[in-house]
Amino acid sequence: MSYVESVLADLIAKNPAQPEFHQAATEVLNTLKPVIDQNPQFEKAGLLERIVEPERQIMFRVPWVDDNGKVQVNRGFRVQFNSAIGPYKGGLRFHPSVNLGIIKFLGFEQIFKNSLTGLPIGGGKGGSDFDPKGKSDREVMAFCQSFMTELYKYVGQDTDVPAGDIGVGGREVGYLYGQYKRITGLYEGVLTGKGLTFGGSLARTEATGYGLVYLVNAMLKAAGKTMQGATVAISGSGNVAIYACQKAQQSGAKVVTMSDSNGWIYDENGIDLAAVKEIKEVKRGRIKEYLEYHPQAKYTEGKGVWTAKCDIALPCATQNELNEEDAKTLVANGCYAVGEGANMPSTLEAIEVFQNAKILFAPAKAANAGGVATSALEMSQNSMRLSWTFDEVDAKLKGIMENIYANIAQAAKEYGMENNFVAGANIAGFLKVANAMMAQGIV
Ligand code: NDP
Repeated sequence: MSYVESVLADLIAKNPAQPEFHQAATEVLNTLKPVIDQNPQFEKAGLLERIVEPERQIMFRVPWVDDNGKVQVNRGFRVQFNSAIGPYKGGLRFHPSVNLGIIKFLGFEQIFKNSLTGLPIGGGKGGSDFDPKGKSDREVMAFCQSFMTELYKYVGQDTDVPAGDIGVGGREVGYLYGQYKRITGLYEGVLTGKGLTFGGSLARTEATGYGLVYLVNAMLKAAGKTMQGATVAISGSGNVAIYACQKAQQSGAKVVTMSDSNGWIYDENGIDLAAVKEIKEVKRGRIKEYLEYHPQAKYTEGKGVWTAKCDIALPCATQNELNEEDAKTLVANGCYAVGEGANMPSTLEAIEVFQNAKILFAPAKAANAGGVATSALEMSQNSMRLSWTFDEVDAKLKGIMENIYANIAQAAKEYGMENNFVAGANIAGFLKVANAMMAQGIV
């Protein structure tokens, strides 16, 4: 059994019932084999065993009272995975599907993603099985205050800086920040994604979606292609999906689909993003309501967004939303590029289909790194007590995404896997963290 295989076997045995964590670790470690073979010092230093074990995992009770006066209890998580290159950084997810395995897969991915940004941030992730959907503002506030009343002990601007993710947007970050400040008395950049009046960065809201399109544009350009005139399918209709749609449209593409967990819309005239923003950001409604604005569009209940014919697919909803069958359908319909806006949206089998078909494939840890990169820019602005303009932040974001593309393409080439950006992203992200861990001794 090789070193990689034995570490993976131990990981699976030690962490049963965490299939998403197994999946993320398998994808990363398998592509690292050539690097591990060339660097025997990593095995000697037990580097892989250490990198797959979080430095710290915190699980806690979150009690709160709902609008009917009933006591509710949720479970809170923060996994501080790796601080070799900087303070832990990574979002908080509030969704009923959240459990330790999901948070660990996200935290593990985050280590390499953060490394790829070139900025000094370590990897972490957190969240809760709380479902903000259908809750009143007061209930969301009560939950956030209770959550932070425990979490504040473990976070801080120089130790661990959480941000948003699924179910955690500006409203939730605001309530969490207010409670942190109230308990600690500190006005510091402990969270990113804050409102613009209290330390938030311009362009942070847009950053993940915009960054995705910047990276996909760089990948297309290197292959002699462009988004201009292309038909794009997007899944999801949350923060990442909305701003990916906006930037794709600004890049000259026609976006024809968006979705939520109930179903998906197809608009052959191109998605009217103002309508989607009103439904999702103002009314907090369902994507089905798009038909009230554009009765000619088509709504389909359930899954199936990847059956829409497109040139470029941008999955921006959640993990494992695009499986082998979906990948085969996309390829059969002539899709030539995929950029992952969500974390691990494609199954391992789907990625194999794309790679066998020689489709341009930008994996999440590179493609959606724009969000965390801009969060790190928010941390810099908070430390310096100043604010950059939208254009300044956007220009830095674009530069970071183009740099990530160049680095992952270069790493793939160097290890004999040209155009395999999955391997390129894993290798480039890993090497920086691995070298920092080696320099810091057995810790
Ligand atoms: P939001 O909560 O704003 O939006 C999530 C979207 O995905 C919604 O349309 C939601 O539909 C849909 N969705 C969520 N869960 C499921 C599910 N189980 N099945 C089908 N649809 C689902 O989250 P974000 O846009 O912030 O996050 C989307 C993805 O991007 C996640 O994978 C996240 O980890 C990743 N990401 C986000 C970053 C950020 O900066 N926000 C940064 C990097 C990655 P519904 O409303 O019906 O639940």
